[in-house]
Amino acid sequence: MILDSLRAIVQDVNASPNLEEAMRSLVNGVFEAINANVCSVYLVDPVSEQLVLLATEGLNQTAVGVIRLNLDEGLVGLVAQRGEPVNLADAHKHARYKLFTEADEEEFHAFLGVPIIHYGEVVGVLVVQQLESERYQDDTVSFLITLAAQLAGAINQAGLSGDIARMQRGEILNKTYYGLPGSPGLVSGTAVVVYQHADLDSVPDRKIKNVEREIEIFHGAVNQVKEEMQNLSIQMGEILPSEEHAVFDAYALMLSSGSLLDDTIKRIEGGNWAAGSLRQTIQDHTQIFREMSDPYLRERADDIRDLGRRVIMKLQSQKTDKNQWQFPENGILIGEEITATQLGEVPVGRLKGIISVHGSTASHVAILARAMQIPCSMGVVDLPVSRIDGLDIIIDGYEGQVIVEPDNEVRVHIEALILEEQQLAEELKEIAHLPAETTDNYRVTLFANTGLLSDVSPLIISGAEGIGLYRTEVMFQMRQQFPSETDQLNVYRGLLESMHPRPVILRTLDVGGDKALDYFSFEESNPFLGWRGIRLTLDHPEIFSTQLRAMVRANIGFNNLEIMLPMVSNIQEVKQSSALLDQVVEELQEEGFDVVRPKLGVMIEVPAAVLLIGSFAPYIDFVSIGSNDLTQYMLAVDRNNERVSRLFDSFSPAMVRVMKQIVDEARKHDLHVGICGEFAADPMGAILLLAMGLDSLSMSVGALGRVKRVVRNISKESADILLEEVLVMDESTQIRRRIIAELKKHDLAGLLRAGN
Ligand code: PEP
Ligand code: MG
Repeated sequence: MILDSLRAIVQDVNASPNLEEAMRSLVNGVFEAINANVCSVYLVDPVSEQLVLLATEGLNQTAVGVIRLNLDEGLVGLVAQRGEPVNLADAHKHARYKLFTEADEEEFHAFLGVPIIHYGEVVGVLVVQQLESERYQDDTVSFLITLAAQLAGAINQAGLSGDIARMQRGEILNKTYYGLPGSPGLVSGTAVVVYQHADLDSVPDRKIKNVEREIEIFHGAVNQVKEEMQNLSIQMGEILPSEEHAVFDAYALMLSSGSLLDDTIKRIEGGNWAAGSLRQTIQDHTQIFREMSDPYLRERADDIRDLGRRVIMKLQSQKTDKNQWQFPENGILIGEEITATQLGEVPVGRLKGIISVHGSTASHVAILARAMQIPCSMGVVDLPVSRIDGLDIIIDGYEGQVIVEPDNEVRVHIEALILEEQQLAEELKEIAHLPAETTDNYRVTLFANTGLLSDVSPLIISGAEGIGLYRTEVMFQMRQQFPSETDQLNVYRGLLESMHPRPVILRTLDVGGDKALDYFSFEESNPFLGWRGIRLTLDHPEIFSTQLRAMVRANIGFNNLEIMLPMVSNIQEVKQSSALLDQVVEELQEEGFDVVRPKLGVMIEVPAAVLLIGSFAPYIDFVSIGSNDLTQYMLAVDRNNERVSRLFDSFSPAMVRVMKQIVDEARKHDLHVGICGEFAADPMGAILLLAMGLDSLSMSVGALGRVKRVVRNISKESADILLEEVLVMDESTQIRRRIIAELKKHDLAGLLRAGN
């Protein structure tokens, strides 16, 4: 029963079209579920930092939006301050009691307030009150805590918007949504929402011109699904009892019935495309079912959604969008989870920014965005994707913020910053061909990370002295099947040739985790701890040796190839890979190819590998710190999970110390040591790495200029002093503060973000 009420309230709140209605359904739901005399909800307005009464059942409605409390005021403020429930038999007797006459609340005695907490921050308070003086029972407290925890994400957006009043009207214009930095830079462009077929709620609204044609397409899709359902019913009739397969008949019936079709067609006539119109209709219909108290009927809402998904998949396969929709010149690609393939589908040169509702800074999409030098914002969980297709969007890739339909003032401000960035880029071009040398003549090598480019000229123009990480998996992701030896040979050879004589480090296939291949997919409950990188390739020597053969053959006549192994966690993986490389070289020589064994290196991205560098040393020539995965595995934080992204911190003392340890260990064993994780791309990280004495720093091409400017403007001596201080610090905030101060001292803070 409790679970039913919880579910019903959560569903109602989530399905509400705007904040005002969401808050109203919340208080009504709670009011009824626990038989309260009063239920109210207050949200924190971050602009005024006050708690604002947003909805109430039981108090005077005129108080809504009027009652505002500072956090140190009243019992509601106390709940927010403490971040804990406050449960009182007689609120009047409490020292913090504050009477709001406008709310008519004198007569209520019992008070229970529960904080609404989103990722550690109080965003609001849910309150129930009662006439009798009696503390609320534990069950009620737990009920409200559960509800508040479940709704915190949805409710939080209102607080973050900085404009609760506007949110109440459900407006999205000139509104800022908060995500995580994906790829630096500022950009303004037009939203292009892509969606997964299976995800009904992310289907965007999209304007159409040819209504008749769209209706025809819609009918076509409906008829296809109807036919499928009828066939399924017949097939299943042979296997299942009649009541089990009746659902397929029911589906077919629903598709013939008036309202689903008529409502959708009305919406298409209003100018929305079929998929968006159907999404709206399905959302409306499911809402009606969800409001029914009979659990059986409530579950029919899921059937309707399922049906909707099926029709939308058919619409997608008819490619209605491809006919009517062109990727705009300055498109910003937006989706629940952007994939490498989706990126690949965008016409070259038109993609100006990327926004992914899920994922975080270290997700591979963000890394690709950095490789492409395109601003990107990740984990923008509150973005109403279905409502923003075609709107103007600004991305602040430094902070991860997204502004929808900015007003003039915001636009002018952002355009000034964009200009400042362009000026910086011009300045950085001027140092592209100067060495990365400190003021006291200490030299470090700067490499570029890539995987996307077949044309390497941007790397050379940006001053890359080689490629420190070529992510071969990107090529695999863009194909329909495993690329052949010749296919790979051509790509690698082109790369080695155009970079020659600069070194190129090709990393062997690193799929698994968040990098999937459409043609070789598998499900794992813990993919980042699963069949990834070297583990997978060693289990498939036919794939591994094909890749090694292509690499070794590509090197003929150039000799600038180095091979690097990802995700190594034990010595067997190194020995086996080294033996396989020997074998491949030998076989190719037998086949008459004039090949040599290239240098072999290992990525240090799993904590176990840090401790095994000495054991690996006899088999390898170099190590390269993979700070992205090393952070993930050292700190036990999924690099892709926006919920814990605050903990994904490569500046944590543990990370700084472990990187120093890797460098020292590599030196002891005469191994070259580089880094190819994103830490190197951060001007703040680069200073520390410089002091640690790495041979090479490899980073996305867009970061080369900034890092070079840092290197050229400080002395190794001052970086060494900084590192010494930082190595004994216990907190990452302390570490960051110290580095920022150093950057400011050398007038380099502008590299962190335009406007600094
Ligand atoms: C890393 O983990 O730091 C790395 C460079 O590899 P990737 O980001 O491709 O996993
Ligand atoms: Mg990695």
